[in-house]
Amino acid sequence: MTRIAFDNSYARLPDGFFMRADPDKAPAPELIKLNRELAVELGLDADWLASADGIAMLSGAAVADGSEPLAMAYAGHQFGGWSPQLGDGRAHLLGEIIAPDGIRRDIQLKGSGATPFSRNGDGKAALGPVLREYIVSEFMAAAGVPTTRALAAVATGERVQRETRLPGAVLTRVAQSHVRVGTFQYFFAREQTENLQTLADYVIDRHYPEAKSAENPALALLKAVTERQAKLIAQWMCLGFIHGVMNTDNVQIAGETIDYGPCAFMDVFHPNTVFSSIDRNGRYAWVNQPNIGVWNLSRLAEAMMPILHPDQDAALKLAESAVQQFSDVFNTALNQGIAAKLGIPVNADFMQSTFKLMTDQGCDFTLFFTELTRIAEGGTEDAFTALFVEPMAAQVWLAEWRGLHSAELIPAMKAANPVFIPRNHRVEEAIQSALNGDFSPFETLVSVVTRPFDQQPEHAAFETPPTLEQVVQQTFCGT
Ligand code: AMP
Ligand code: MG
Repeated sequence: MTRIAFDNSYARLPDGFFMRADPDKAPAPELIKLNRELAVELGLDADWLASADGIAMLSGAAVADGSEPLAMAYAGHQFGGWSPQLGDGRAHLLGEIIAPDGIRRDIQLKGSGATPFSRNGDGKAALGPVLREYIVSEFMAAAGVPTTRALAAVATGERVQRETRLPGAVLTRVAQSHVRVGTFQYFFAREQTENLQTLADYVIDRHYPEAKSAENPALALLKAVTERQAKLIAQWMCLGFIHGVMNTDNVQIAGETIDYGPCAFMDVFHPNTVFSSIDRNGRYAWVNQPNIGVWNLSRLAEAMMPILHPDQDAALKLAESAVQQFSDVFNTALNQGIAAKLGIPVNADFMQSTFKLMTDQGCDFTLFFTELTRIAEGGTEDAFTALFVEPMAAQVWLAEWRGLHSAELIPAMKAANPVFIPRNHRVEEAIQSALNGDFSPFETLVSVVTRPFDQQPEHAAFETPPTLEQVVQQTFCGT
């Protein structure tokens, strides 16, 4: 089993960064899906991955040559509450590869069994959440949003106990790395300043090499992470995406979307939309995501204070100045992103009044922009007007919009407005069918949403919002 050229830099870090742990041997692994395009992009042999040896690796049944499985240590704030010890409780980092693009990637199994960090958890993943992460992360990648990727989903042949007994599965996740805000917090909380410095040096080398030559590399790192998070969250907002569990252990330092738990895309626009059943106070509602981004980055800044400056007052000032730039970067990115979607020059007032109108009229977020794009391209107004409770309100708004829109903005508009998103009821439908042994809805959904900007008239049904009966009220953290 020497088909993957692992080069494991994280495993070379000091003791305390991770615990070595082997994945569980899945009793009857079966490949659900292999992401062949991603395999090729990563320079991996897709045919080997689909072979018995490859599936053994992807299920945890066998450890491939050069793989050094480990569970990473981290801490985190979950829904605002501090957990000093989290860590990979159901994931194994198999190792790293350097892809043909020169970028180092983690290859990680998720749902592959207990580790020293499992606490009371079983270390397993149920099929549903694995398919959800596969669908949504691959859509995000296709839509141009930085994200971890799904290389494969494998059924383990084992049942896992949740509210009921469910089929188990393992997701192979690919990331620029799995270092999180919570990784910094882990060493800060233990007052291990040397490890904190080692971690900062590691992520600078791996993700932010330009920070190395800055006067204060740790400060440059904090600023760069802040900037990537601000831009990332703006991209989520533009897609109506609600992450659902923006805990500090789910904020990745390289700036990719990570940990697709109870996440979903809004159908009807309302800024306070929440999906997670455990997010009772709406902490992670759509509109709150930038505020939570700042909160999470403040936790990173706090954790980095010992390496920002030897004097703690000075360190605090630097930390604050770095996080403060979030709002400018975020607002600029959001204004530009929404302007592109509207096919108009940047106009913050018009954006806000449009959000208000969409809320008042109960417009479907995605269709609002797809149908507007169709109007811009010369289509009729009927489908757009039909999104409004009051058709007159659509007419009034369109008149104003026409005064701002110009045809040369249409290409950017098309590139900003996916025709297809993985609507929550479709994701649920794909999961339910898979639980009944039929993976074809999952296959279809993946193929439709990974070409999100293409018109696919044969799949027009995937454009439409759920009927009243199809609405998925809440997504449980069922992991
Ligand atoms: P998450 O909510 O997925 O970000 O996970 C938060 C923490 O709980 C992480 O430390 C996970 O490794 C751990 N965890 C979640 N589910 C399980 C499980 N089934 N078994 C063990 N640990 C888990
Ligand atoms: Mg997590």
